Amino acid sequence: MTNPSYKRVLLKLSGEVLMGDQQFGIDPKFVAELAKEVKAAKDSGLEVCLVIGGGNIFRGMAGAAQGMDRAQADYMGMLATVMNALAMQSALEQLGVHTRVQSAVQMDTVCEPVIRRRAERHLEKGRVVIFAAGVGSPYFTTDSGAALRAAEMKCDALLKGTSVDGIYDSDPKKNPAAKRYQSVSYDKVLADNLKVMDAAAVALCRDNAIPIVVFSIREKGNLARVLEGQGVQTIVQKEG
Ligand code: UDP
Repeated sequence: MTNPSYKRVLLKLSGEVLMGDQQFGIDPKFVAELAKEVKAAKDSGLEVCLVIGGGNIFRGMAGAAQGMDRAQADYMGMLATVMNALAMQSALEQLGVHTRVQSAVQMDTVCEPVIRRRAERHLEKGRVVIFAAGVGSPYFTTDSGAALRAAEMKCDALLKGTSVDGIYDSDPKKNPAAKRYQSVSYDKVLADNLKVMDAAAVALCRDNAIPIVVFSIREKGNLARVLEGQGVQTIVQKEG
């Protein structure tokens, strides 16, 4: 049984979770596992939007640090997210889940452009909609893309599936005494610069009252548990 307050959710997956145990790129076996989790969420009756990052292939900031023009590097990052979206589409279709990819950077031969009303229709028909290329502009991230699509598709929550199981008051890798928040306010995340999503994405969720649920997608079955309100997670909402 899913959290009864959720009818439509946006699941944001960092690009790095598509790497599995590799150092770079896409591990099709791991993508297939992720697709099973997405299928289970959809089969539970939810409408599911997906946004996938590109950090497993290319990040604009990394390119800029090596002397590339930042905007140019960011467009390369956006293209990386389209590759990930196509990989996920393929894995979902192998499980019989109907999907559509909509890219904010138009690429007519491989996917649809982002058209909100069309995306609505896809969801009504039980398709998973994968939004690629973030917001379609450089100097943004796919977290901002996820917050934007969650707002325009009127999602009940933004689920951020990543490699860590929530938000901590300090880096748990460096500080064994780090404490995980069960719930934390948008304002505290922004004021304390807690590492969840970039500030623009958090602010957009705050302004549209979209709860952000941070959880580890690396553990099998965790998405389903989180949707039932049970898994280990941190919820970012108005009152922390
Ligand atoms: N990007 C961008 N605009 C967007 C979304 C993404 O310029 O709206 C670029 C940016 O260079 C970013 C890269 O695409 O570094 C990959 O996305 P992101 O870093 O958000 O992926 P993640 O960390 O979630 O894997």
